[in-house]
Amino acid sequence: MPIPLQDGWLYGPVDSRRYGRSLGVNPLPLDRKLCSLDCLYCQYGFTRTQEVAGRAEVPSMEDLAAAFDREFARLAAADDIPDRITVAGNGEPTLHPDFYEWSRLLAESRTKYFGATTQIGLLTNGLHLNKPDVISGIQEFYDEPAMKLECGTPECFAGLYQVSPKGLQRTLNGLHQLNSFVIQALFIHSPSADNAAPAEVAEWLKHLETFRDKIRHVEIYTLDRPAADQSDAQRVRVARLNEIADQVRAIDLTAEVFARESDV
Ligand code: SF4
Repeated sequence: MPIPLQDGWLYGPVDSRRYGRSLGVNPLPLDRKLCSLDCLYCQYGFTRTQEVAGRAEVPSMEDLAAAFDREFARLAAADDIPDRITVAGNGEPTLHPDFYEWSRLLAESRTKYFGATTQIGLLTNGLHLNKPDVISGIQEFYDEPAMKLECGTPECFAGLYQVSPKGLQRTLNGLHQLNSFVIQALFIHSPSADNAAPAEVAEWLKHLETFRDKIRHVEIYTLDRPAADQSDAQRVRVARLNEIADQVRAIDLTAEVFARESDV
């Protein structure tokens, strides 16, 4: 079953073991997912089954700026200062046409109300790094941008994300333009794409090596709930995730596996 979409432009703050007090930002429509990929494992269900008639309405830059100001002022007055703000939301945040501008306003509001110790993170699929304002926005306003890179070959990219295989090279080209980022990689087994297969992981590691000086660390995941009804994606065992993490460490990168404690 898909999980519900975020129903606001800001959500939380909630207490997170990883990030401390954590506030989410959703700069995307409230009534549908807006994404350029169609991941087999997407928690919001398949992109292609979303309503696609007309242009999805994203919030305006002005509405987002007003929401940042209003909510950050309220939290500061209540002395509820988040440790971290994470931009993600109902799909791919860099698809917003004013990504650079509202990211600047977000960073300004963060500093004004919380101070610069509140970190700003970004979760992105990395497909839109061909746009100069996306690159500039990420470099200038995000403390911890996390990039999705989890395939070694174009065939895996096409099968896992149900898009053109050319997207892999486009993503790699974009990553070369960034100075520093985290890699997030989710592994699944599926007849359409098995990115945990040894040959696929070997190709993925070659890509990581080309970015070794830019990668802060590598985060490794698998599904933490069953995939959407339409998908045949299966979880990867933690033992296999640990093997992959060891292979990452063998190329002098730090890696951490995030899996449920009940997993084996
Ligand atoms: S990039 Fe994220 S939001 Fe988009 S389809 Fe994949 S998992 Fe879903």
